[in-house]
Amino acid sequence: MRISKKCVCGKNHSVSCSSCSKIRMVLLLKSGNRELKYRQKNNRYTNPVWYSPMSKNRKSVQRIIDGMYKRFEKSKYKGVTNKVMFYDNYTKELIISK
Ligand SMILES: [Zn+2]
Repeated sequence: MRISKKCVCGKNHSVSCSSCSKIRMVLLLKSGNRELKYRQKNNRYTNPVWYSPMSKNRKSVQRIIDGMYKRFEKSKYKGVTNKVMFYDNYTKELIISK
């Protein structure tokens, strides 16, 4: 299990990393809201994905999720999101959806 508080995959990210962060959070936006989605290179739009800060990698899953959810509630996404999904970023398993 990777529990390092630093990026160890080689990408050398400083805050969060798609490989090294412990939690992956996906915001399922209500229909429309394309301007808030992420635009891919192939011009498709996808729901925003946040990764937990690697500095929190040794905290419990619950504490990390609570922190990320608080940050979400203060964000511009709050009113336009149907559901927030939290995944274990290492096993890819769904932990909880709110
Ligand atoms: Zn990394």
